[in-house]
Amino acid sequence: MNNKIWLSSPHMGGTEEKYVKEAFDTNWIAPLGPNVDGFEKDLENYLGNDVHAAALSSGTAALHLALIILGVKACDEVICQSMTFSASANPIAYQGATPVFVDSEERTWNMSPEYLEIAIQDRISKGKKPKAIIIVHLYGMPAEMDRIMAIADRYEIPVVEDAAEALGSSYKGRKLGTFGAMSILSFNGNKIITTSGGGALVSTNEEWIKKARFLATQARDNAPHYQHSHIGYNYRMSNICAGIGRGQMEVLQERVDARRENYTFYKNELDTNLFKFADEPNPDYYSNRWLTTVLVEDAEGTVDREVIRLALEKDNIETRPLWKPMHLQPVFADAPFYGDGTSEKLFQNGLCLPSGSNLTSEDKERVINMINNVCTTHSV
Ligand SMILES: *Cc1c(COP(=O)(O)O)cnc(C)c1O
Repeated sequence: MNNKIWLSSPHMGGTEEKYVKEAFDTNWIAPLGPNVDGFEKDLENYLGNDVHAAALSSGTAALHLALIILGVKACDEVICQSMTFSASANPIAYQGATPVFVDSEERTWNMSPEYLEIAIQDRISKGKKPKAIIIVHLYGMPAEMDRIMAIADRYEIPVVEDAAEALGSSYKGRKLGTFGAMSILSFNGNKIITTSGGGALVSTNEEWIKKARFLATQARDNAPHYQHSHIGYNYRMSNICAGIGRGQMEVLQERVDARRENYTFYKNELDTNLFKFADEPNPDYYSNRWLTTVLVEDAEGTVDREVIRLALEKDNIETRPLWKPMHLQPVFADAPFYGDGTSEKLFQNGLCLPSGSNLTSEDKERVINMINNVCTTHSV
């Protein structure tokens, strides 16, 4: 059997162990310590725009705290991009609120500004103004931020930016993760950089970030005994994980460069009549290319996404269909949805190709040879 080629696997830079060793040497084995503070500083410096960051146990935890801090409660409604990973929407349900899903547009595959506005107007006309808008930058591609922020501002609804897949991307030269009233990042094992598991909440509002740190450490009031006036959570990042994060921040741009090279490689080597690539719409959009994704659009219909995915799987190469939209998920069957079927079509034809920053040229050759073989076999 050929060795496994993963979709996106962790890629250490080399200095992570130094920070982790420091944590051991000084016995900071806890969900606080110098690496946690250092990692937060690294994120703040990298993102710029006067943001503050709270390092947390996951991106999902960060999103949950963002909604709590924005005051999302039971029976509220929160607008969310339908095409995304379930972790974008689950925290809405944690709060007992209802997600209102909005379709994608074709250029970026992210939230359609048209349907966003239709959804807001319709929810308001039904008597409920949405409490927040969760937008996602899928696979690292920036959403149409100017138009989305203009709509959000017009209706005075705060934007929560799910930048879990988009650290290192930017829009009009400004880093993603700095546009929302609050933004979240993820450092799960498959993301562009990782702390093994972890996330962060980011905002220019320092009070909110302080509140997030407070809620994330069981909401202990300032007293010698255990005193609580709020429901707390155990959502803080550990000092060990943060040490990994500090090392990873040193190689972030290298990781972005490598993943962007993967995209260029696939685009040059695959038949672009058959595979539609998600190009950046114009120079305002800079994607970290977390994953290279293609739409398999064969006019003759002889190969489709599944034929390719299964052939690669047989050869021990991991690929995945795109995210299945949330409005098609059984668990969200009752949630309102606004759209025209764009995300559904993307899901039907879309494939994520192996995209790790640690893929070797042999790995990538193997992937394209395999794909090109499948296409020739099926077209005779
Ligand atoms: C990974 C991911 C998350 C969740 O992050 P975790 O750190 O795994 O909790 C949220 N949203 C999107 C779009 C993601 O890809």
